[in-house]
Amino acid sequence: MIYDLITVGGGVSGMVASICASRRGKKVLILEKGERVGRKLLATGNGKCNLANVAPAEGKYNSDFPKSALKEYPLEAQLDFWRGIGLVTREVDGRIYPYSEQAAGVLNALRAALADCGAETLVSTGAERIEGRYLVNGAYRSRELLLATGSNASFGYESLGLLAPYGHRFTRRIPALAPLMTDKRKLKGLKGIRARVSAELVSNGNTVAKASDEILFKDNGVSGTAAFALSGALARNSLTGGEACVVIDFAPDFSEDELLALFARGIAPEGMFHKEIAAAIRRAAEAEGVSLARAAKRYTLDGVRPGPAELAQVMCGGLRTEDFCPDTLESRLSPGLYAAGEALDVDGDCGGFNIMWAVASGMAVGNKCCSK
Ligand SMILES: Cc1cc2nc3c(=O)[nH]c(=O)nc-3n(C[C@H](O)[C@H](O)[C@H](O)COP(=O)(O)OP(=O)(O)OC[C@H]3O[C@@H](n4cnc5c(N)ncnc54)[C@H](O)[C@@H]3O)c2cc1C
Repeated sequence: MIYDLITVGGGVSGMVASICASRRGKKVLILEKGERVGRKLLATGNGKCNLANVAPAEGKYNSDFPKSALKEYPLEAQLDFWRGIGLVTREVDGRIYPYSEQAAGVLNALRAALADCGAETLVSTGAERIEGRYLVNGAYRSRELLLATGSNASFGYESLGLLAPYGHRFTRRIPALAPLMTDKRKLKGLKGIRARVSAELVSNGNTVAKASDEILFKDNGVSGTAAFALSGALARNSLTGGEACVVIDFAPDFSEDELLALFARGIAPEGMFHKEIAAAIRRAAEAEGVSLARAAKRYTLDGVRPGPAELAQVMCGGLRTEDFCPDTLESRLSPGLYAAGEALDVDGDCGGFNIMWAVASGMAVGNKCCSK
């Protein structure tokens, strides 16, 4: 049997591409290394699966590469896709979730659609080698091939080397949407405390990213949405070898002068902040010889580095995007070969943008592959 398309990787991008291609009458085989398809999908959005976002995609990714596919398959087209496989969604603060707020519901809908359109799936069958055009593991043959193997963020496999024989290279993977590790000195007493802050990632004196949201102090760094929002920029900064620190503003609603005036009028940091944060601000002010207001507005954690891949939601890096056409996701080096989702060097902000990319790129491949 020669398939029209072999999809290597049964994650969200691979399943979406396979459904779209099968619906066009193409004979599709999915090879999935894990014991079941879509395992990562189940872990997304704390089990609720944040599928997409109503905000414009502009500026939400590490490059402009996703622009073409997202222009062709924007939110409305993606919601049509989800409705078309029987999934009802809801919007919560701009984020799109399944109406049930159950990631399992999304996976069930995808699996049912795969069965309906006749795509074949083999689980516990990792692609170990791809030869010529296209023979996988010496056993499965197809006219075209999609690599949709995702990344090892949290869990998963790195399989980008499978495309090395076709001349494809990849950029280094570094955790993004991940906690930040920092020097421990100024974390003393803060473990487990959450605060609503503004935070800046500063490298060589320049602010490279800013975020305003919740930060969660840990014993070896910081987590929470504010830390996650800075982690993509940190990953890219690490690639250039830059040293970085995180400057936390515990009082973003006040200017430094306003804070100075408040403290001068007898308000104590303990009247504004968690008592352990107030104590940390007092220690920093004393150690650095600055005012309490300054220490509260510029609480600096040095030695910032990316957290471990096991705690990341996505990895920055992946197959070099310049080697793929942005509208079809077809290889420029080997026509008939495609890549989608996180296998490519595309990472997006928190809020559904990564699944949105996986879906848009999957739709682009599935709707256009095997046309020649
Ligand atoms: C904890 C967590 C929470 C997240 N929450 C969200 C969220 O709410 N919203 C959002 O937009 N994004 C979220 N993400 C990111 C999102 O899950 C990924 O960006 C997305 O799943 C990528 O889809 P993909 O199809 O590229 O890869 P995956 O979904 O990772 O699928 C890749 C598949 O390929 C398989 N595979 C790998 N190598 C081989 C091989 N050699 N042969 C065969 N199969 C192989 C893997 O087993 C896997 O099943 C989250 C990620 C994590 C880890």
